Amino acid sequence: MKFKDQIARRRTFGIISHPDAGKTTLTEKLLLYGGAIQEAGAVKSNKIKKGAASDFMEIERQRGISVATSVLAFEYDGIKVNILDTPGHKDFAEDTFRTLTAVDSVIVVIDVAKGVEEQTEKLVEVCRMRNIPMIVFINKMDREGKDAFDLMDEIEQKLNLRVTPLSFPIGMGYDLKGIYNIRENDVHLFTGNTTKDHKTTTEISDLQDSRLDDLVGNKAADTLREELELVTGIYPTFNREEYLNGELQPVFFGSALHNFGVQELLDGFIAIAPAPRPKKAEERLVAPDEKDFSGFVFKIHANMDPRHRDRLAFIKVVSGTFERNTAYKHVRLNKNLKFSSPNAFFAEKKEIVDESFPGDIVGLHDTGNFKIGDTLTSGEELHYKGIPSFSPEHFRYINNADPMKSKQLAKGIDQLMDEGVAQLFTLELNGRKVIGTVGALQFEVIQYRLEHEYGATCSYENLNVYKACWVDTADTDSDEFKDFKRVKAKFLAHDKRGQLVFFADSSFSLQMTQQKYPSIKFHFVSEFE
Ligand code: GDP
Repeated sequence: MKFKDQIARRRTFGIISHPDAGKTTLTEKLLLYGGAIQEAGAVKSNKIKKGAASDFMEIERQRGISVATSVLAFEYDGIKVNILDTPGHKDFAEDTFRTLTAVDSVIVVIDVAKGVEEQTEKLVEVCRMRNIPMIVFINKMDREGKDAFDLMDEIEQKLNLRVTPLSFPIGMGYDLKGIYNIRENDVHLFTGNTTKDHKTTTEISDLQDSRLDDLVGNKAADTLREELELVTGIYPTFNREEYLNGELQPVFFGSALHNFGVQELLDGFIAIAPAPRPKKAEERLVAPDEKDFSGFVFKIHANMDPRHRDRLAFIKVVSGTFERNTAYKHVRLNKNLKFSSPNAFFAEKKEIVDESFPGDIVGLHDTGNFKIGDTLTSGEELHYKGIPSFSPEHFRYINNADPMKSKQLAKGIDQLMDEGVAQLFTLELNGRKVIGTVGALQFEVIQYRLEHEYGATCSYENLNVYKACWVDTADTDSDEFKDFKRVKAKFLAHDKRGQLVFFADSSFSLQMTQQKYPSIKFHFVSEFE
């Protein structure tokens, strides 16, 4: 197959949702369509149920052995689909944000009864900021939930989206009769059977067709006719260009559990979702069909099996072909590296591959060379943009609890930070180390992993910080900046990249500081223009 066709047939995306909306169930049904798995229950949920570190550890251990559910790939209709897993738990939101830098589009799953939830809002906002094309799937239509129009209103308002349905439910909950596929003009009847994975549909191109009444009954048929008329009146006609630009979001309805409406979603997705797109590097825009290989690390997964200590760095191929046993330039280290056993991912397993194409994710065994955000190329000096750090929510001093193990501790902290488990700051005044995390859970995870993987013990001490703000000033020699550094010396730190960070202890003090030093900008994100 020609290189260009390889690119054109790839779809790399993520599924985002608030926990429990049905992401795992939907993923599994998609894999069933691809013939990638044979039965339901094969996809492990990555959910942290009790919110306990032990839960997380158990999941991570299973993953380490059975291989990350991090990337699930399958073929459908000649298309190579790559699903990137995104943790739904809010403590791991940063992981999800980073994964979103490697997707070309997303599917947002919403529970019809619960509507737009907190995590959905946050994740969609990140996608909206980056103009990532989004498809919305309203799930659990087999249950009583919100009215379809009300829910689409809610989505438009809370998520700031512009939607248009491409399928429409006929009834809901106990009365769910089926789904009308607006793209194909056919009716798919709901049978309530969870095992059946092949749909039978009836084409109804003219809604006045009496066969519609025969299929779903007069009442439901009339309601559907009215509702579809409303749909045509209210919502814009689907336009792929607008969808690709992130300006219009098509909506599908269904029930993942009953594998219902999922094929409409998958077929719709295959038809409209983008193949790999050009990506911005600091130096220039890089197109997928360029001959030379380039890619970036968006995730590092530690192998928790103590006998196999290596890590797996996940690279998204942006351009060219990645080949096994070929030397590539690790741009940050300015060093050439060769990989003898790069992994590609399939439904439940990984395999060594000889070549990978744009849109693919390659897993590289790593002994400590990679950090999140690193770029690998055929030789060109490129730095991919867009893996920022966000201000953590929780901050604690980290202390060494065993003076004999300070080396192990330093190494452990260093590697865990490279993986992006948390952020490390060093106070300017006294060199003390501060760990910042998105959720409280990570502190336990770090402590556990330092002990079990590095043989080091640590203790924490609370630190009252409201936000870490990356400091941005045009003139580091100005009197204003010097005064700021002197007065706020106690609250200044450096992040791992050496950037200056101000620890604001309350939103009020941040406001006061901002007023006092108008020429200095304070950002909640580590990357700014
Ligand atoms: P995730 O946290 O988003 O991955 O959600 P899961 O896929 O684990 O689903 C959460 C719960 O909702 C599970 O008990 C599923 O069986 C259930 N569920 C998922 N999809 C549906 C659906 O379409 N209908 C109903 N009634 N339940 C569903």
